[in-house]
Amino acid sequence: MSMAVQDAAELRALYQELILDHARHPRHYGKLETATHSANGVNPLCGDKLKLYLKLDGDGSIVDASFEGSGCAISVASASLLTDRVIGLTKPDALDTSANIIARLTGQESIEGKPEDKLTALEGVKEFPARVKCATLAWHAFTSALNESPETATTE
Ligand code: ZN
Repeated sequence: MSMAVQDAAELRALYQELILDHARHPRHYGKLETATHSANGVNPLCGDKLKLYLKLDGDGSIVDASFEGSGCAISVASASLLTDRVIGLTKPDALDTSANIIARLTGQESIEGKPEDKLTALEGVKEFPARVKCATLAWHAFTSALNESPETATTE
């Protein structure tokens, strides 16, 4: 697929479709009974709530991830994309990835020259400051889970 022949509107439509697909059919949804790490997250601004579960093996690699909760399409899609993205990462790589993605979603980091991935779809939220927290919620909860923080991660 050549990005060059697609205009911005076409790309946006594709991305919107990806977000809606993940919102309607979240991947890795439900409690992970074998989880070694978990964290709650809330976005009081929108009412999004989720719990993120991770299973790390003895080497500190994420071998499974899931989430449950309720929220708007963006928060659910973001959590679904997260679980797809993080399985297989080591804890240090996962923390790096999380910080990087939060920076991308909040517009602190330029994405120019960065390889495209599915998470690019979420970067449209930068145009809607109120929705940025919906998109970053799962990543804040993910960081808390990795750091074994007992506090509920909040976007506020
Ligand atoms: Zn939301």
